[in-house]
Amino acid sequence: MLSNLAVRDVETLIHPYTNLDAHRSAGPLVLERGDGVHVYDTEGRPYIEGMAGLWCTALGYSNGELVEAAREQMAKLPFTHLFSGRSHDPAIELAEVLKELMPVPTSKIFFTSSGSEANDTQVKLAWYLNNALGRPKKKKIIGRQRGYHGVTIATASMTGLPANHTDWDLPLPGFLHVGCPHFYRFAEPGETEAAFSQRLADELEATILREGPETVAAFIAEPVMGAGGAIVPPEGYFAAIQAVLARYEVRFIADEVICGFGRLGTWFGSEALGMRPDTLSFAKALTSGYVPLGGVSVDEPLYEAMRAQSLKIGTFGHGTTYSGHPVACAVALKTIEIYKRERIVEGVAAKAPHFQARLSRLAEHPIVGEACGLGLIGGLEIVADKASRRQYEPKAGVAARCVAFAQAEGLIVRFLMGDRIAVCPPLIITADEIDALFDRLTRALDRTADWIR
Ligand code: PLP
Repeated sequence: MLSNLAVRDVETLIHPYTNLDAHRSAGPLVLERGDGVHVYDTEGRPYIEGMAGLWCTALGYSNGELVEAAREQMAKLPFTHLFSGRSHDPAIELAEVLKELMPVPTSKIFFTSSGSEANDTQVKLAWYLNNALGRPKKKKIIGRQRGYHGVTIATASMTGLPANHTDWDLPLPGFLHVGCPHFYRFAEPGETEAAFSQRLADELEATILREGPETVAAFIAEPVMGAGGAIVPPEGYFAAIQAVLARYEVRFIADEVICGFGRLGTWFGSEALGMRPDTLSFAKALTSGYVPLGGVSVDEPLYEAMRAQSLKIGTFGHGTTYSGHPVACAVALKTIEIYKRERIVEGVAAKAPHFQARLSRLAEHPIVGEACGLGLIGGLEIVADKASRRQYEPKAGVAARCVAFAQAEGLIVRFLMGDRIAVCPPLIITADEIDALFDRLTRALDRTADWIR
């Protein structure tokens, strides 16, 4: 029986990434408030938010300093924009702070309101750059199967997940995908991690050569794949990939929308994984998810090309009403101040071994094939047969069932394609809360195993 609020939800809302038919009978989980790593539903039931919302609420749900930063900026100047050279203090200061933090040489920062807009901007800038450089054919973009980069037409095209392509008439021409670096699922029998990495780099090279290097503008990758299954790349992966990109002057875009701001125990995932991208996209934990804000780093050669375009064309024809929204910038500044003051990133590095140890113990569970991660992100895969790694029929919805059991146990986690379950708690989680999270997840797996039988 759906509550009154649930009925009104079903009658009025289209939910992103939801089975819209099943939602009619299942109804929503309506959350009302949050505190620390917990959220509470309308019945007052607490849940550990084991996904930090959507991989974003790094500082948890009750940070008064972030609320106050937003309130102060709202009261002072709730809106102004950056069009036509207009500016404001929070955007200038935040750009300065981010320039200092960026793990890649950065000349300027361009702000967006989401990760999708950030990655969409990356595509447009790669095209704009190559037009400025007199390379009008160099426009193709290479992503990876199971990579996730957003939902705009270009970013859904870069994404390598079926739900983003099927019946959406995507990917657009000029968007290609290479193999997913998931060693457990896609390595050949007997293949080492290094050999698997090299095979994927060889595939990338063959793709570039087949298309013609003069037509390939950029390659985009998340340090650790999020929505594609919480997948950590194998040893040597990015070193092998980068060698190929350098050979053919293909721009390397790091999608740091999930890994940015401490998730892997370093400020950016690129640092943890030895990536040397030309540019970064970021969002989510930049404001701990409290208000929407994203952005991209602009390197000096790109900036010089953009400037040259202005000499030719006049205006830089890109940007949205909310690019550099003052309230969002004020909250981001406070968020970064807290990350530094509370040594949040160092805290992640210190907590990660305990988190990863609890996660990897789940690999011993009878229905779990793989359980591993990096920093405070983890993925596990439910399998029908551990020895052969055979999976259940997608229709059986086994991981979805496990996530429902977890919810009944007071834990929010997320199921992803291929019966994978992701865990990505707020970075402020304590050791005891990590234990509670994995105790609940273990019970959910036990209940799933009983349900299968
Ligand atoms: N890139 C990555 C790696 C993401 O995980 C996401 C969202 O989950 C996006 C881009 C898109 O960000 P948004 O949903 O803010 O548009």
